Amino acid sequence: MNPDAVSPFGPRRYRAWNEHVKLRYGGRVQKVSIEAGFTCPNRDGSVAVGGCTFCNNDGFTPGYLDRRQSITEQIDAGLDFLQRRYPETRRYIAYFQSYSNTYGELGRLRACYEEALAHPRISGLAIGTRPDCLPAPVLDYLAALARERIIELEIGVESCNDAVLASVNRGHDFAASADAIRRAAERGLEVTAHLLLGLPGESDQSMLEGAARISALPVHALKLHQLQLVRGTALARQWQRDPASVPLRSEQACIDLLADFIERLSPAILLQRVGSEVPPSMKLAPAWNLRLSELAPRISAELERRGSWQGWRYQPIASGPH
Ligand code: SF4
Repeated sequence: MNPDAVSPFGPRRYRAWNEHVKLRYGGRVQKVSIEAGFTCPNRDGSVAVGGCTFCNNDGFTPGYLDRRQSITEQIDAGLDFLQRRYPETRRYIAYFQSYSNTYGELGRLRACYEEALAHPRISGLAIGTRPDCLPAPVLDYLAALARERIIELEIGVESCNDAVLASVNRGHDFAASADAIRRAAERGLEVTAHLLLGLPGESDQSMLEGAARISALPVHALKLHQLQLVRGTALARQWQRDPASVPLRSEQACIDLLADFIERLSPAILLQRVGSEVPPSMKLAPAWNLRLSELAPRISAELERRGSWQGWRYQPIASGPH
C-alpha cells in the first residue's frame, strides 16, 4: 500500500451516511422509531415459527416507545425525547423498525404509513422488512410515495451464505434478498441492506465474499451489525448450552473483521451503520461493550493504521443470477 495515499472519504475512511445526509438535506436527519403492531412470517408460521435465532426485537426498541399508543402519539413521544437529545436535527423520519413492516394487506400498510406521513414534523419513512415481504403492489406504492417524500427501504439480508441463513432459521436465501433489492431499485427506491457479521457457521472468507456480493447489487446503503447474543433468543440459549457452537469475537477481532469487510465493499455504497449496540440489560455476550460512538472511530483508526479505506480491496464481480 502507498503510505502517502490520501483517503477519499476524509478521516472516517468510509462513505458515511451522516455526512451524506447533511449534504443532501442540509443537516441531521433523525429517525423516530414506531411500533405499528406488525409481526413477521418467520414467527407466525407462514414461513416458519420461532423466528430467526438471533432475533429479539426488544434488543433494539428505544425506551421512549410505547406500543399501546397510536402512531401519531408514538411520534409525538419520540420527538419529545429526540428534540432534547439532538436539538440540531433538521428533519425527522418515522422508522417502522420492529418486525416486518411490509407484512400485511396493502390497505393496512397505507393506513400506517400515511398516518405517520400526515404528522407535520415527519419528512419521510424508513421501513424495515424481509425480502420475502415485498410484492410488486407494495413496491409500486412505495415508489410512488418516494416521488414526494423521503422513503428508505431497509431489507434484512443478514448473510450472503445460504447455509448460514438456513442454520439461523432465516426462512429465505440470498437469492431472495438479491431479487427484492433489484425489484425495489428498478422502481427507483433507495435500498439499505442489513448484514449481521459473525453468525455461527460463517467463515471470515464467506463474510468477505459477501462484501463483493452485496457490492454487485443496487444497494444504496448498508447497515453492518456485529453478532451480539440478546437474552431470550434461541442463539443465546444455544451459546449457553454449547459455547463452542457460537464463536464470539474479541473486541479487536471484531474491529479487524469490520475493517476487512469495509476494505472490500464498493466505495459507492453508503455505510449507515458500522456496528450496533444492545442495551446492557438485554445483552448476554460478548463481554466487551463498545458504544457505537466508540466503535466507529476505532474502525476508522484501524483503516488509518493500515493506510486503507472503503473499497481499497474492492474487486467487482458480475451480479449474476443471485
Ligand atoms: S429478524 Fe426479522 S425476520 Fe427474523 S424473526 Fe426477527 S422480525 Fe422476523
